[in-house]
Amino acid sequence: MLVIDDLGKRYGGVQAVDGISLVLEPGERFGVIGPNGAGKTTLFKMIAGDVPPTAGAVHLFGKDVTTMSTARRARMGVGRTFQISNLFRDMTVFDNVRVAARGGTSKARVFWMPQRAKDDVSERSIEALESVGLADRRNLTVANLSHGEQRQLEIAMALVGEPSILLLDEPAAGLSAVERATLKSLIENLPRTLPILLIEHDMTLALGLTDRVMCMENGRHVVTGTPAEVRDNETVREIYLGRR
Ligand code: ATP
Repeated sequence: MLVIDDLGKRYGGVQAVDGISLVLEPGERFGVIGPNGAGKTTLFKMIAGDVPPTAGAVHLFGKDVTTMSTARRARMGVGRTFQISNLFRDMTVFDNVRVAARGGTSKARVFWMPQRAKDDVSERSIEALESVGLADRRNLTVANLSHGEQRQLEIAMALVGEPSILLLDEPAAGLSAVERATLKSLIENLPRTLPILLIEHDMTLALGLTDRVMCMENGRHVVTGTPAEVRDNETVREIYLGRR
Protein backbone atom coordinates (compact mmCIF):
# COMPACT_ATOMS: atom_id res chain seq x y z
CA MET A 1 0.00 0.00 0.00
CA LEU A 2 2.58 2.47 1.20
CA VAL A 3 6.35 2.02 1.14
CA ILE A 4 8.68 4.64 2.61
CA ASP A 5 12.29 4.10 1.67
CA ASP A 6 15.13 5.81 3.55
CA LEU A 7 13.23 9.10 3.66
CA GLY A 8 14.99 12.26 4.78
CA LYS A 9 14.20 15.96 5.11
CA ARG A 10 16.65 18.72 5.89
CA TYR A 11 15.54 22.26 6.71
CA GLY A 12 18.70 24.35 6.51
CA GLY A 13 20.83 23.04 9.35
CA VAL A 14 18.04 20.89 10.85
CA GLN A 15 17.77 17.23 9.82
CA ALA A 16 14.04 16.89 10.63
CA VAL A 17 13.74 13.32 9.27
CA ASP A 18 16.74 11.05 8.80
CA GLY A 19 16.62 7.69 7.01
CA ILE A 20 13.07 6.57 7.86
CA SER A 21 11.72 3.43 6.17
CA LEU A 22 8.39 1.73 6.71
CA VAL A 23 5.88 -0.49 4.92
CA LEU A 24 2.13 -0.21 5.48
CA GLU A 25 0.46 -3.51 4.60
CA PRO A 26 -3.12 -3.79 3.25
CA GLY A 27 -5.63 -3.42 6.08
CA GLU A 28 -2.91 -2.51 8.57
CA ARG A 29 -3.10 0.24 11.16
CA PHE A 30 0.34 1.71 11.69
CA GLY A 31 1.24 4.33 14.29
CA VAL A 32 4.15 6.77 14.34
CA ILE A 33 4.92 8.12 17.79
CA GLY A 34 7.66 10.26 19.26
CA PRO A 35 8.21 13.33 21.44
CA ASN A 36 7.91 16.94 20.23
CA GLY A 37 10.36 17.62 17.42
CA ALA A 38 10.81 13.90 16.61
CA GLY A 39 9.96 14.57 12.96
CA LYS A 40 6.49 12.97 12.89
CA THR A 41 4.75 15.88 11.19
CA THR A 42 7.54 16.28 8.65
CA LEU A 43 7.28 12.58 7.83
CA PHE A 44 3.50 12.90 7.46
CA LYS A 45 3.89 15.90 5.15
CA MET A 46 6.28 13.99 2.90
CA ILE A 47 3.87 11.04 2.70
CA ALA A 48 0.89 13.32 1.94
CA GLY A 49 2.93 15.34 -0.56
CA ASP A 50 2.92 18.66 1.32
CA VAL A 51 6.73 18.92 1.31
CA PRO A 52 9.31 17.21 -0.91
CA PRO A 53 11.90 14.97 0.74
CA THR A 54 15.59 15.76 0.44
CA ALA A 55 16.40 12.02 0.39
CA GLY A 56 14.63 8.72 -0.19
CA ALA A 57 11.36 7.76 -1.84
CA VAL A 58 7.62 7.31 -1.22
CA HIS A 59 5.71 4.57 -3.08
CA LEU A 60 1.91 4.38 -3.03
CA PHE A 61 0.03 1.41 -4.46
CA GLY A 62 3.24 0.32 -6.23
CA LYS A 63 3.92 3.71 -7.85
CA ASP A 64 6.74 6.13 -7.05
CA VAL A 65 4.96 9.30 -5.86
CA THR A 66 7.99 11.03 -4.35
CA THR A 67 7.65 14.09 -6.61
CA MET A 68 3.88 13.83 -7.11
CA SER A 69 1.59 16.64 -5.91
CA THR A 70 -0.81 16.33 -2.98
CA ALA A 71 -3.72 16.56 -5.42
CA ARG A 72 -2.51 13.65 -7.52
CA ARG A 73 -1.89 11.54 -4.42
CA ALA A 74 -5.43 12.40 -3.31
CA ARG A 75 -6.78 11.27 -6.68
CA MET A 76 -4.88 8.00 -6.25
CA GLY A 77 -6.86 7.32 -3.10
CA VAL A 78 -5.12 9.07 -0.22
CA GLY A 79 -7.50 10.48 2.40
CA ARG A 80 -5.89 12.65 5.03
CA THR A 81 -6.57 15.04 7.87
CA PHE A 82 -4.72 18.27 8.66
CA GLN A 83 -3.04 19.44 11.83
CA ILE A 84 -4.52 22.92 11.34
CA SER A 85 -8.29 22.85 10.90
CA ASN A 86 -9.48 23.03 7.31
CA LEU A 87 -13.16 23.54 8.14
CA PHE A 88 -15.48 26.29 6.90
CA ARG A 89 -16.70 27.48 10.28
CA ASP A 90 -19.75 29.40 9.01
CA MET A 91 -21.05 26.53 6.91
CA THR A 92 -23.07 23.57 8.12
CA VAL A 93 -21.50 20.27 8.99
CA PHE A 94 -23.29 18.69 6.00
CA ASP A 95 -22.07 21.34 3.56
CA ASN A 96 -18.48 20.94 4.74
CA VAL A 97 -18.61 17.24 3.94
CA ARG A 98 -20.33 17.91 0.62
CA VAL A 99 -17.53 20.29 -0.39
CA ALA A 100 -15.04 17.54 0.38
CA ALA A 101 -17.19 14.95 -1.42
CA ARG A 102 -17.20 17.00 -4.59
CA GLY A 103 -13.43 16.88 -4.62
CA GLY A 104 -13.43 20.62 -4.17
CA THR A 105 -10.79 22.60 -2.44
CA SER A 106 -11.18 23.92 1.05
CA LYS A 107 -8.86 26.79 1.87
CA ALA A 108 -6.69 25.73 -1.07
CA ARG A 109 -6.37 22.16 0.16
CA VAL A 110 -7.39 19.42 -2.19
CA PHE A 111 -9.52 16.43 -1.33
CA TRP A 112 -9.69 13.06 -3.00
CA MET A 113 -12.08 12.91 -5.93
CA PRO A 114 -15.30 10.89 -5.60
CA GLN A 115 -15.40 7.41 -7.08
CA ARG A 116 -19.17 7.37 -7.28
CA ALA A 117 -21.32 9.64 -9.45
CA LYS A 118 -21.73 13.28 -8.48
CA ASP A 119 -25.40 12.79 -7.57
CA ASP A 120 -24.23 10.45 -4.84
CA VAL A 121 -22.61 13.38 -3.05
CA SER A 122 -25.37 13.86 -0.47
CA GLU A 123 -25.71 10.13 0.11
CA ARG A 124 -21.97 9.68 0.58
CA SER A 125 -21.82 12.72 2.84
CA ILE A 126 -24.49 11.27 5.13
CA GLU A 127 -22.67 7.93 5.20
CA ALA A 128 -19.39 9.63 6.10
CA LEU A 129 -21.10 11.60 8.87
CA GLU A 130 -22.74 8.43 10.17
CA SER A 131 -19.38 6.67 10.27
CA VAL A 132 -18.02 9.35 12.63
CA GLY A 133 -21.22 9.69 14.67
CA LEU A 134 -22.13 13.17 13.45
CA ALA A 135 -25.18 12.50 11.26
CA ASP A 136 -27.53 14.06 13.83
CA ARG A 137 -25.35 17.22 13.89
CA ARG A 138 -25.40 17.77 10.14
CA ASN A 139 -27.50 20.95 10.14
CA LEU A 140 -25.42 22.74 12.78
CA THR A 141 -22.82 25.26 11.69
CA VAL A 142 -19.26 24.14 12.39
CA ALA A 143 -18.79 26.98 14.88
CA ASN A 144 -21.40 25.29 17.09
CA LEU A 145 -19.51 22.00 17.28
CA SER A 146 -17.20 21.13 20.14
CA HIS A 147 -13.48 20.82 19.43
CA GLY A 148 -13.78 17.04 19.48
CA GLU A 149 -16.72 17.05 17.08
CA GLN A 150 -14.74 19.25 14.69
CA ARG A 151 -12.02 16.57 14.65
CA GLN A 152 -14.69 13.96 13.93
CA LEU A 153 -15.93 16.10 11.05
CA GLU A 154 -12.40 16.38 9.64
CA ILE A 155 -12.22 12.59 9.59
CA ALA A 156 -15.61 12.43 7.84
CA MET A 157 -14.22 14.81 5.20
CA ALA A 158 -11.25 12.53 4.69
CA LEU A 159 -13.53 9.47 4.44
CA VAL A 160 -16.15 10.86 2.08
CA GLY A 161 -13.94 10.34 -0.97
CA GLU A 162 -13.82 6.63 -0.17
CA PRO A 163 -10.03 6.60 0.17
CA SER A 164 -7.85 3.50 -0.21
CA ILE A 165 -5.59 4.68 2.60
CA LEU A 166 -6.20 7.09 5.48
CA LEU A 167 -3.51 9.36 6.94
CA LEU A 168 -4.33 10.88 10.34
CA ASP A 169 -2.11 13.70 11.57
CA GLU A 170 -2.18 13.97 15.39
CA PRO A 171 -6.00 13.69 15.54
CA ALA A 172 -6.06 13.80 19.35
CA ALA A 173 -4.01 16.99 19.75
CA GLY A 174 -5.76 19.42 22.07
CA LEU A 175 -8.67 17.09 22.90
CA SER A 176 -10.03 16.42 26.41
CA ALA A 177 -9.95 12.88 27.87
CA VAL A 178 -13.62 12.36 26.98
CA GLU A 179 -13.10 13.64 23.43
CA ARG A 180 -10.07 11.35 23.08
CA ALA A 181 -12.15 8.35 24.10
CA THR A 182 -14.80 9.24 21.51
CA LEU A 183 -12.13 9.67 18.84
CA LYS A 184 -10.55 6.36 19.78
CA SER A 185 -13.77 4.40 19.41
CA LEU A 186 -14.55 6.20 16.14
CA ILE A 187 -11.19 5.14 14.66
CA GLU A 188 -11.56 1.63 16.08
CA ASN A 189 -14.89 1.30 14.31
CA LEU A 190 -13.64 2.33 10.87
CA PRO A 191 -13.64 -0.55 8.34
CA ARG A 192 -10.75 -2.95 9.07
CA THR A 193 -10.03 -3.09 5.34
CA LEU A 194 -8.99 0.59 5.31
CA PRO A 195 -5.24 0.92 6.01
CA ILE A 196 -4.49 3.74 8.42
CA LEU A 197 -1.27 5.60 9.14
CA LEU A 198 -1.68 7.45 12.42
CA ILE A 199 0.84 10.07 13.52
CA GLU A 200 0.28 10.72 17.22
CA HIS A 201 2.12 12.26 20.12
CA ASP A 202 -0.15 10.45 22.63
CA MET A 203 1.57 7.08 22.99
CA THR A 204 -1.31 5.40 24.84
CA LEU A 205 -3.80 6.34 22.14
CA ALA A 206 -1.49 5.27 19.31
CA LEU A 207 -0.64 1.95 20.96
CA GLY A 208 -4.32 1.25 21.57
CA LEU A 209 -5.34 1.82 17.97
CA THR A 210 -2.64 0.22 15.85
CA ASP A 211 -1.25 -3.16 14.80
CA ARG A 212 2.35 -1.90 14.58
CA VAL A 213 4.06 1.22 15.82
CA MET A 214 7.25 3.07 15.00
CA CYS A 215 8.85 5.39 17.53
CA MET A 216 11.00 8.28 16.27
CA GLU A 217 13.34 10.61 18.10
CA ASN A 218 15.34 13.50 16.60
CA GLY A 219 14.25 12.50 13.10
CA ARG A 220 15.54 8.95 13.46
CA HIS A 221 14.00 5.53 13.84
CA VAL A 222 14.11 4.16 17.39
CA VAL A 223 12.05 0.97 17.19
CA THR A 224 9.22 -0.61 15.19
CA GLY A 225 7.10 -3.40 16.62
CA THR A 226 3.76 -4.43 18.01
CA PRO A 227 2.21 -2.03 20.54
CA ALA A 228 3.36 -4.36 23.36
CA GLU A 229 6.93 -4.48 22.04
CA VAL A 230 7.11 -0.71 21.68
CA ARG A 231 5.54 -0.08 25.10
CA ASP A 232 8.11 -2.38 26.73
CA ASN A 233 11.07 -0.98 24.82
CA GLU A 234 13.56 0.56 27.24
CA THR A 235 14.53 3.44 24.92
CA VAL A 236 10.88 4.34 24.28
CA ARG A 237 10.24 4.38 28.03
CA GLU A 238 13.22 6.67 28.56
CA ILE A 239 12.06 9.00 25.78
CA TYR A 240 8.51 9.24 27.10
CA LEU A 241 9.52 9.52 30.73
CA GLY A 242 11.85 12.35 29.76
CA ARG A 243 15.00 10.69 31.00
CA ARG A 244 16.91 11.35 27.79
P1 ATP B 1 5.44 17.92 17.25
O1 ATP B 1 4.86 16.73 17.97
O2 ATP B 1 5.88 19.01 18.19
O3 ATP B 1 4.60 18.43 16.11
P2 ATP B 1 7.10 16.50 15.37
O4 ATP B 1 7.55 15.17 15.83
O5 ATP B 1 5.92 16.55 14.47
O6 ATP B 1 6.85 17.43 16.62
P3 ATP B 1 8.37 18.08 13.35
O7 ATP B 1 7.34 19.16 13.44
O8 ATP B 1 8.35 17.23 12.15
O9 ATP B 1 8.34 17.18 14.65
O10 ATP B 1 9.78 18.80 13.49
C1 ATP B 1 11.02 18.08 13.44
C2 ATP B 1 12.16 19.09 13.47
O11 ATP B 1 12.17 19.82 12.25
C3 ATP B 1 12.05 20.11 14.59
O12 ATP B 1 13.36 20.38 15.06
C4 ATP B 1 11.47 21.31 13.91
O13 ATP B 1 11.87 22.50 14.53
C5 ATP B 1 12.06 21.21 12.51
N1 ATP B 1 11.18 21.78 11.49
C6 ATP B 1 9.94 21.35 11.17
N2 ATP B 1 9.44 22.10 10.16
C7 ATP B 1 10.37 23.02 9.85
C8 ATP B 1 10.44 24.10 8.89
N3 ATP B 1 9.44 24.34 8.05
N4 ATP B 1 11.56 24.84 8.86
C9 ATP B 1 12.60 24.58 9.70
N5 ATP B 1 12.59 23.58 10.62
C10 ATP B 1 11.51 22.81 10.70
